[in-house]
Amino acid sequence: MTKIVILTGAGISAESGMGTFRDKGGLWSQVRLEDVATPEGFARDPGRVQAFYNMRRVAAKAARPNAAHRALALLQRDWPGDVVIVTQNVDALHEAGGARDVIHMHGELARALCGNCGHRWDAPDEMAAGECCPACDAPAARPDVVWFGEMPYHMDRIYGHLAEATVFVAIGTSGQVYPAAAFVQEAAAAGAHTVELNLEPSAVVSDFAETRLGKASEVVPAWVAEMLRR
Ligand code: NAD
Repeated sequence: MTKIVILTGAGISAESGMGTFRDKGGLWSQVRLEDVATPEGFARDPGRVQAFYNMRRVAAKAARPNAAHRALALLQRDWPGDVVIVTQNVDALHEAGGARDVIHMHGELARALCGNCGHRWDAPDEMAAGECCPACDAPAARPDVVWFGEMPYHMDRIYGHLAEATVFVAIGTSGQVYPAAAFVQEAAAAGAHTVELNLEPSAVVSDFAETRLGKASEVVPAWVAEMLRR
């Protein structure tokens, strides 16, 4: 039985209207990541950080899954072995496209986290600075997203899947953010065939056995169709 492990990044959601980060005109050319995506930035100006994620939450709610999200859900349904989707994305477009058990290693825009007690709950559309946690009442509510300098979620589970992978595919990710950028090496060390599907070659393209370039909405359904024809 073969196991396919898929890592997705901002590129898979680009055609759904969610901006990417490092591309020309991407989010990091509009705001400084130090201001909105670090614990230090949140401590300095929580209102600004909440406003940034409120805006991202609105965009995520309006976004619709594209052909790439739907193709991965189809692969999960029809592949005779396991298909594990690990995403760096904080949107819910994989789930909206029909995928199950998606591992959100960088958290989810739709969830809130208490910085004091660790309680989690469904985020309201708008969060404000100093909002209180419903469990401990500390004014420490924040978006449940992983910021730079914080440990991504579910790492033990993810490394367990990588160690069992027979195929590893990275889709729409620039390979500049670790530890995700090193998953290809983990999977290759476990003997997996490694494939990159991206608009442009990533920073770690040379670590992959195979690369296919193009828009996610085109290359992902084509790759899935090929896998299912095998
Ligand atoms: P990225 O913006 O660095 O890279 C996007 C990649 O997608 C690029 O390689 C680009 O060529 C590709 N791409 C663009 N359009 C595409 C399309 N239509 N089809 C296919 N590929 C396309 O995004 P990343 O690699 O996901 O960044 C790493 C992660 O860092 C992010 O996903 C994010 O989770 C995390 N991060 C989080 C925050 C936060 O707000 N907490 C901030 C920064 C980064």
